[in-house]
Amino acid sequence: MIRFFALGGLGEIGKNLYVLEKDGRLLVLDCGLKFSDVPGVDFLLPDFSYLERRQKDIVGLFLSHGHEDHIGGVPFFLQKVRVPVLGSRLTLELVKSNLGSRAQEYEFIEVIAGGSLVLPPFELRFVEMRHSIPEALGVYIRTSEASVFFTGDYKIEVAPVSGRPTDFRSLASIGDTGVDFLLADSTNAEPETIWGGGGSSEDCLSEQQVYELLAEEIAASRGRVIVSTFASHINRIQQLLQIAEREGRSVAVEGRSLIRNLKIAEKLGYLDGLVHKVVSTDALESVPRNRQMIVATGSQGEPLSALVRISTGTHKRVKIEPGDKVIIAAYPIPGNERAVTDVINSLLYQGADVRFIHSSGHPCTSKDHQLIMLHLLKPRYLVPIHGEWQHLVGHAQIGRRAGIPGERIFLLENGDVLVYEGDKDEVRIKKRGVDGVGTLIVDGILSKVEAAVAVKERLKIGSDGLVVVEAILDEDKGNWIVDTVMVGVVTQHSSAEVSERLNHLLEDALNAGAKQTDDKLRDFLAGFVRNYFKNINQTPEVIIKLLKV
Ligand SMILES: [Zn+2]
Repeated sequence: MIRFFALGGLGEIGKNLYVLEKDGRLLVLDCGLKFSDVPGVDFLLPDFSYLERRQKDIVGLFLSHGHEDHIGGVPFFLQKVRVPVLGSRLTLELVKSNLGSRAQEYEFIEVIAGGSLVLPPFELRFVEMRHSIPEALGVYIRTSEASVFFTGDYKIEVAPVSGRPTDFRSLASIGDTGVDFLLADSTNAEPETIWGGGGSSEDCLSEQQVYELLAEEIAASRGRVIVSTFASHINRIQQLLQIAEREGRSVAVEGRSLIRNLKIAEKLGYLDGLVHKVVSTDALESVPRNRQMIVATGSQGEPLSALVRISTGTHKRVKIEPGDKVIIAAYPIPGNERAVTDVINSLLYQGADVRFIHSSGHPCTSKDHQLIMLHLLKPRYLVPIHGEWQHLVGHAQIGRRAGIPGERIFLLENGDVLVYEGDKDEVRIKKRGVDGVGTLIVDGILSKVEAAVAVKERLKIGSDGLVVVEAILDEDKGNWIVDTVMVGVVTQHSSAEVSERLNHLLEDALNAGAKQTDDKLRDFLAGFVRNYFKNINQTPEVIIKLLKV
């Protein structure tokens, strides 16, 4: 029996984690994080508790490529579930760098495109997929019962600026050998009925087109150029260094993750002959402004990133001057659009010229990328993965266009289990078949339940304000004194006036009342305060403190 399910990545962009099971043995595919727009929450992770319980059944964790939404959960996962980690050289280098000194405690298996590996009952064959980071791999997984192809993230690239194009020959040969289930990237697929089909043509530029646009913009700049991209977008960084070389600009790099990844890319030979252009930001000062380029993190408007600090004028070394050009060369991840817009506004306010040049690293629907993949692999069944619901539904429509009957295409949610019985050649779906599917919140420390409560409280305080009531009993005199503090509560009168009125009301009520237990007093005070604010249409979070002196 084969089972397939996701603990993250279905109905959302991010925290990809898929699991394939054959006769009780599990192969985990990717282990990513998701960026969070919740205040104070660094990022989100899939709930690993199910895999923790089944640790001894897991044969390995395969990582398709080095983007954070595919590898960012690994340090947390390995703390709970100790399994061998498989991936390409670059992917593993990035994971090890995330793990720091802890990396040596774990087992890593480096795999290469064209290579294969047997982890019984799975036979794996790796295929290079073109994506916005080098060494992205798809994997063809064969078992005695069925074969599966997992694309990871991919786009179809015929003539890339550097590196190899998509490996059509391997994909076609795997298609001829036979694919029962295709688990394929759905990003950018959208139901035709919503937008008229396909992503916008701008998102679908080829790498060559992006290169040319970047080169044109940089050549036309008379001041300093600042380009912001993902730290893991090594292809784009390669391109920028090539252009800097061509245009005679010196390059400085701002942002810790970018500096770290540049070192890794250089070590693995991805920046051959290009790194000599990279200097420190201080050294850049001695070069005329029109000979400068700064590559910075922060393309998603991340609060402490280099670009955000530059845009708000709080960066120590980099200040915007009129005539500077800022190019944001990355796609905003859903949920980050607001933060990116804020950065653009701040940059414009400082007098910068702002450009947006990006291209999706994922299949482009208007260029039939998903359709091409379906024709190459010819799967019997399609399971759209990696996408919000609109992408999964859009991908299912494309599957039907490729000739796969609707009943052989499965739209799953995280935690739904697809069960295949080879002897009967039968597929069934068990809704919510996995016990323990959810989201972990990472806020410095990893703590599921408490963190979830803390986030709820933060959101409540953020939207409705906070009232803290301190009631102090003078046990000698037998009377109560109340002190109320309000934060972020909107009232008609000043908060000092409202606090004072509340203090009197509460003191009168407490001093007139009979002796009560502390719990009852707390309930009484909280109820009184909530009611008071309810009458002026406010619902702040209320905290009661009782003291006896
Ligand atoms: Zn990716």
